[in-house]
Amino acid sequence: MFGTSQPAPLTDLNRYTALSEGQVVPEASRCVQCGICSYNCPINIDVRAHAWRGLPIHDGHCLTCGQCVQRCPRGVLRFERIALLNV
Ligand code: SF4
Ligand code: SF4
Repeated sequence: MFGTSQPAPLTDLNRYTALSEGQVVPEASRCVQCGICSYNCPINIDVRAHAWRGLPIHDGHCLTCGQCVQRCPRGVLRFERIALLNV
């Protein structure tokens, strides 16, 4: 027992898909502006501000690491597939 259990799945997207095609999308009506998401973002993206406005995180620096999604106590954030080549 070394505590190596896998983290919960990000969503229905797998990790690779989230990295390559995903973006973080908030559900503004659920956000309580606690700031836990921003606090846990390793590159200091103001996730809370995005959540407040209901705006996806388009910041090109986003690592899609999932920290904000996993830490939000309200389940506000999720990964959503970006329609890049929706043909
Ligand atoms: S952690 Fe969740 S509830 Fe808190 S500010 Fe961020 S999106 Fe809103
Ligand atoms: S997925 Fe990671 S890098 Fe992107 S906004 Fe959330 S915590 Fe920051």
